[in-house]
Amino acid sequence: MNRRQTTAQASLEAQKRQRRSTKKAQKRAKFEQRRKETKQQAMNLAVAEEGEVVPTLSELPDKSLNSPSKYPSTAFYDTISTYPVGHGMTSAAYKAIVLGAKKENQISCKCKKLECAKNPGCPCRRMAVEMNDGQIDNLLVDVSKGVHEIDFSKGVHENKFYFSCSSACKCTGCSLNSVVQAKKDHNEKVTVTRRTLDVGFGVEAKRHIQEGEFIATFMGTLCGPHTVNGLKVGTINEQYAYTVTKKNSIEQVFESLESKEYIQCLREAYHSDIIIDPTERGNFTRFFNHSCKPNLTAVKVCAGGLSPLNLNLVFVANTAIRQGEEMTFDYGPNYLTEQMGQCLCEVCKERGEAVLTTTEETNGGTGSENVPPNTSRRLGKRPSGVKKTRIHKKSRKNDQMTSKNS
Ligand SMILES: [Zn+2]
Ligand SMILES: [Zn+2]
Ligand SMILES: [Zn+2]
Repeated sequence: MNRRQTTAQASLEAQKRQRRSTKKAQKRAKFEQRRKETKQQAMNLAVAEEGEVVPTLSELPDKSLNSPSKYPSTAFYDTISTYPVGHGMTSAAYKAIVLGAKKENQISCKCKKLECAKNPGCPCRRMAVEMNDGQIDNLLVDVSKGVHEIDFSKGVHENKFYFSCSSACKCTGCSLNSVVQAKKDHNEKVTVTRRTLDVGFGVEAKRHIQEGEFIATFMGTLCGPHTVNGLKVGTINEQYAYTVTKKNSIEQVFESLESKEYIQCLREAYHSDIIIDPTERGNFTRFFNHSCKPNLTAVKVCAGGLSPLNLNLVFVANTAIRQGEEMTFDYGPNYLTEQMGQCLCEVCKERGEAVLTTTEETNGGTGSENVPPNTSRRLGKRPSGVKKTRIHKKSRKNDQMTSKNS
């Protein structure tokens, strides 16, 4: 009797446990399903639009090498003008994209009489001021103002976000439309040319560029922090990608939004890094070479709203650029440390040559070949195509693994 009772009790307990764990599993499955749906929704929202193609020209002295079949794999990519949404973002980031697409969470204007930068009633200007710590000066670097007043000592304008009008705005004579400026006329602004194998492809000014001109937006697939190009963050692929958000760099402005749900979601989304990966799809900005004294600065600009889809990394001329001059920007301190060795951008190369000339003079050398020391590895350019190929292979493998698992 007693034993039977115990057995019955035990089986009852087991049943309860079973029910609890089934419930838990169901809850988890439901959550997982919702997460997948949101991710898919975000991906559907952000279909990459085709962009203006800037041809890559090869003008090597050895003409046999100028055929596209001799280009490195990095020279091939799909040109896009809007971000597609990729894998590896946090659930909050996908949700922020979905919520950000709702009309009430977008920010645009219809200023007609006053230009946006001078119109206190312009929603874009209001957000620009908010992002500028309430200051109404230097809302955005633009051609009319010049960029001298702004500290461009850093390659990417680290902790500062700007707000700009977007193509959704109906404003006329707008001076807050940097992103719009940066998205057009690429073919009229630049050429992509390869003159030596050593340097590879680089971007040259096709005409005189004014200081403060917005050249282009860095394009790629939005992803991270879990994967970049199908690979774990911290691996070699990051050399191609740019992290647009660093925790807390944009959160100050969220309070001015109306939807509490959206605010919470953005806060969570921006607590992880959001990365633009140009490996498969992007634009000509992938060919900007590194320089320690660059003539471009990357500025972070939100346009149209605050969702990850509204972030833009915009290249702006920090000085006047002559026609034919190469356009460069500073890849940042990590670039040089990771590359182990000396930088061979034009500035550092000249310095190297100066050192070499002095040495030659003391050694009585002829100096017929003006090659700076340690040139076996050129650093004034993006990583070579070999690494890229490796990434492609791995990434494909990874994709297969993912599709098998799902
Ligand atoms: Zn406006
Ligand atoms: Zn506007
Ligand atoms: Zn405007």
